[in-house]
Amino acid sequence: FCTKFKNTKMATNRTFTMIKPDAVANGHIGNILAMITNGGFKIVSLKLTQLTVADAKAFYAVHAERPFYGELVEFMSRGPIVAAILEKDNAVEDFRTLIGATNPAEAAEGTIRKAYATSIGENAVHGSDSDENAAIEGAFHFAGREQF
Ligand code: GDP
Ligand code: MG
Repeated sequence: FCTKFKNTKMATNRTFTMIKPDAVANGHIGNILAMITNGGFKIVSLKLTQLTVADAKAFYAVHAERPFYGELVEFMSRGPIVAAILEKDNAVEDFRTLIGATNPAEAAEGTIRKAYATSIGENAVHGSDSDENAAIEGAFHFAGREQF
């Protein structure tokens, strides 16, 4: 019983990711999940889903004043995504390293965005930027019983 709940607080060993609509549409789900697991991350929650416009607005509310907000909301709601919670020591920071810079032109060799992002907007994957946001974003997509 208790093992199901041991990581529900701002655990430093979990992060949240989405494979974004561009990468799903381009057939990269399998290759990106392979890069994630080969990078030492364990998948503890996983689903194919789609954000409504309202979901995308809420998920990215922190960017509401940015000039690209409308474009971002339209992009993130236009097709299926893969949502996942990942586990690894130092998960948030290590996953940001694995995905690479927001702009694929600046992303390092070997990163997911270097391999699969097509622009600064359509950049293949999301990665949480803090332990607090990882917990919030994971709970946005997964009920407690879906977090293994
Ligand atoms: P991230 O943490 O690396 O994902 O980057 P941010 O938190 O700064 O931005 C969130 C998301 O908004 C990015 O992953 C992109 O999908 C999108 N985005 C960021 N900057 C731009 C931009 O200049 N133009 C467009 N169209 N989208 C952007
Ligand atoms: Mg961010």
